[in-house]
Amino acid sequence: MHDWNNMNDDDFRKEVRRFIEQNYPQDLRFLPHRPRFSVIKPWLMLLVEKGWAAPHWPVQYGGMGLSPRKLLIYMDEQGRWGVARQFLGEAGVVQLGPMLIRFGSEEQRARLLPKILRYETIWCQGYSEPNAGSDLASLSTEALLDGDEFAINGRKIWTSSALDSTHMFLIVRTDKTGKKQQGITFLLLDLATPGVTVRGIKNIAGTTDYCEVTLDNARTARSNMVGELNQGWTVSRNLLGFERINTGSPRRSEFAFKRLEALARERGLFKDAGFVDRYAQLALDLADLKAVYVHFADLLTRGEPLGPDLSVLQLLSSETNQRITEFMLEVSGELGLTVAPGETQNERVDALTPFLVMRAVTIGAGTSEIHRNIISRHVLKLPG
Ligand SMILES: Cc1cc2nc3c(=O)[nH]c(=O)nc-3n(C[C@H](O)[C@H](O)[C@H](O)COP(=O)(O)OP(=O)(O)OC[C@H]3O[C@@H](n4cnc5c(N)ncnc54)[C@H](O)[C@@H]3O)c2cc1C
Repeated sequence: MHDWNNMNDDDFRKEVRRFIEQNYPQDLRFLPHRPRFSVIKPWLMLLVEKGWAAPHWPVQYGGMGLSPRKLLIYMDEQGRWGVARQFLGEAGVVQLGPMLIRFGSEEQRARLLPKILRYETIWCQGYSEPNAGSDLASLSTEALLDGDEFAINGRKIWTSSALDSTHMFLIVRTDKTGKKQQGITFLLLDLATPGVTVRGIKNIAGTTDYCEVTLDNARTARSNMVGELNQGWTVSRNLLGFERINTGSPRRSEFAFKRLEALARERGLFKDAGFVDRYAQLALDLADLKAVYVHFADLLTRGEPLGPDLSVLQLLSSETNQRITEFMLEVSGELGLTVAPGETQNERVDALTPFLVMRAVTIGAGTSEIHRNIISRHVLKLPG
């Protein structure tokens, strides 16, 4: 078995880079939106064959067992080449696997992990509800224990990729008496179960990324409860460090910035002082973002915990990305009017799709307002 962690960092980086560059489909580089599973599946299967599907899982469960340091290199190389969703982008491998390894029973690990690893089951995350997003602990989807099964009733929303998924991990209310965080349980559900209805929601960019999942007396076995009854809040909150900094990676902004530069060169905008002024500001924002990312990546590499100041990275990353894509739309003139890429003299430019898709980044990984609350309360210790 290969011990990646003993390998020199540069050699490891070269090996990952070579594999990605030789195998990742050109036409899927830097997609402006999340691909459907059927589109990305051939690439995922190559990773499965190579044994690289789960770089962050321990070797004993079929992962690469990478240290945080090597994992950052792996993620960085995927981001550099514009691999879709940067880190596989599938909730089973990325989130559920590590949760089962930490909180699941031996029986659950044996039954579920091999199928997750080979993409025989595709998982989505059912946390948000129509009245529970930022304040997730207010969720009201209820599960009643009835013999050896839970009967689930309620509605989940914004469930990414549910149309492509076979299963969902979800958090449900199992006790209404105590503090709201205490009566929550973490369950696994087969989406083919009677009583489950999945409805796609078309977003502003025209793709059906999210879904609404209605649960009408949907039943799941008690053996599909992960962790203890009423302890699901702890299970669901337990993201690993690299998952938390993944959304803060500057790679997406760097790529958007390069597209902006190419477009501006083609349109002769570097002669325009107004353009150069805003371009320089964005270049500085991007430099700030990279510096902050490196700071948190260093902490992770040294095995130090990430604190509430991580919200600074999330904010800088999402808002820089939005500013760049907004400016790109502005300078693209008539090319920005349609979702179909417009033709410039040298290349195809689609300024509208990244602009539309990036509307979501200040919401999905915690809204900007919530990150500002965290910074003001827990980092700056401001009153209120
Ligand atoms: C791209 C994307 C993918 C997603 N994928 C999933 C998924 O797979 N599974 C899943 O369960 N969910 C998913 N979500 C949902 C996401 O978790 C929620 O959208 C997010 O938590 C915000 O909740 P909300 O939409 O209910 O907005 P709300 O919480 O209702 O917020 C509405 C507005 O009020 C503001 N606000 C709320 N509370 C406060 C406060 N205390 N102080 C100041 N302002 C406040 C917010 O900042 C926001 O502007 C996804 C969302 C996006 C955009």
